[in-house]
Amino acid sequence: MDMLIGGKHISSDDLEEVKNPYNGEVIDTVPIAHLQTAQLAIDEANKAKKSIQEMSAFKVSNKLFDVLEKLKSNRQALAELLSLEVGKPINESLVELDRSVETLKLAAEEAKRIYGESVPLDAGLNGKGFFAFTQRVPLGVVAAITPFNYPLNLTIHKIAPALACKNTVIIKPPSEAPLTVMKFAELVNEEFPDGVINTLTGYGSEVGDYLVTSPEVNKISFTGSVTTGLMISQKAGMKKVTLELGGNDPLIVLKDADIDKAVKGVINGAFLNAGQVCMGVKRIIVEDEIADDFSQKLVCETEKLVMGNPLDEKTTLGTLISENAAIQVEEAVSNAVTEGAEILTGGARDGAFYEATVIDNVTPDMDLVVRETFGPVAPIIHVNSLDEAIDVANATEYGLQAGVFTNDYSAAMRCAQEIDAGTVFVNKQSTFRTDNMPFGGFKSSGVGKEGIKYSVEEMTKTKLIGLNLR
Ligand code: NAP
Repeated sequence: MDMLIGGKHISSDDLEEVKNPYNGEVIDTVPIAHLQTAQLAIDEANKAKKSIQEMSAFKVSNKLFDVLEKLKSNRQALAELLSLEVGKPINESLVELDRSVETLKLAAEEAKRIYGESVPLDAGLNGKGFFAFTQRVPLGVVAAITPFNYPLNLTIHKIAPALACKNTVIIKPPSEAPLTVMKFAELVNEEFPDGVINTLTGYGSEVGDYLVTSPEVNKISFTGSVTTGLMISQKAGMKKVTLELGGNDPLIVLKDADIDKAVKGVINGAFLNAGQVCMGVKRIIVEDEIADDFSQKLVCETEKLVMGNPLDEKTTLGTLISENAAIQVEEAVSNAVTEGAEILTGGARDGAFYEATVIDNVTPDMDLVVRETFGPVAPIIHVNSLDEAIDVANATEYGLQAGVFTNDYSAAMRCAQEIDAGTVFVNKQSTFRTDNMPFGGFKSSGVGKEGIKYSVEEMTKTKLIGLNLR
């Protein structure tokens, strides 16, 4: 599939194969762009700024609604493509499509309410006689650099608000799963002037880096790993940057909790998308008194998951993004076992598949839970008190989201206040997001927020206009 730059299909002499992680078959190829093409995308996105900025908010909103209708009509085909390139069960891909429609709808609505405010300059020395107000104005060119795990909805979380506030966009999709979002960009291009949306494939370390360092790009909206995010923040210079990075989210189960509800939370939180979720449950912190009961129930529910062809509707656990990714998870689990942890179920790998794995007697210092393990693993850490649970929850460089299961409201409120994370849910696992909420982590999990209204704030700048009336 070709790139889309300035409304034209562009290829390259070098092509990269996009493979289905389930069977290794080549799904398609995409160009490996180099710096000259990256500059072309930047030129076209800059040229197109005027065309979108001249559109009324009414028109932009309607166009986004039109794109949404197109996305709806392509729901099944795009969900299948998503499953093919990511290895995600088809039912999860359909959910991603539905979430993408919702994200677009929120942006289409938000396009009509980008307000400024009046500012009483007469509250300051010499300010008498002014009438002043602010406007939120577009930044210009937004580069959206995105990861493989939710390649469509996470990219729409950048494209849709960027367009809602009249920026142009260059998408640098993940090399492992670029196709679904490239198809989506074609749908956007049918509605917006050429150059408003552009796709740039190739290596992140080459063309991604070029976008990050270019003075002609005004904003980097990045979702991906901490390592890449850190590099971007060091290189971006004066441009605005939003970083949505990795997580190591805790799920605390206190002794009074509804255990069945907590187990359900782990099944969704640790195994959704084969555990490749930034806000996935990565550490289960359980009060010792109930730990046996909890782990038995968790094993029983885990063993009901069905591993298989992602396109089969019965499949509930697909592959990881690649065999290499599965090998890394296998190694992390086997190191934890060497250090004293015990596998209760799972633990085997077959190509890019890794079994849903429950692993007990994990201690907070094991690499399995110190690092972000991006796979279907549910590590159980025993604690003896609420204080210890909060300490363990906070003993990480990450701070994306967190969940606590308890019916004790004072314990719930202590967790909510004392856990250092962007979101704390009570009686819900961290693996939950609505597309309008402010989403974004603390500590190494990132800088800035997404969620349409919040993304619009990050993708505009405030201009003050003052009229001297005397
Ligand atoms: P990644 O390796 O950091 O890649 C993300 C994107 O960055 C890809 O498009 C990649 O391109 C590009 N890239 C790589 N090096 C670059 C550079 N030097 N300059 C600019 N761009 C560069 O992340 P991933 O493995 O795809 O995704 C998994 C990570 O994303 C996990 O840590 C996960 O927790 C995190 N994540 C966070 C959120 C959130 O909202 N907080 C959501 C989802 C995922 P190539 O593919 O060509 O290398």
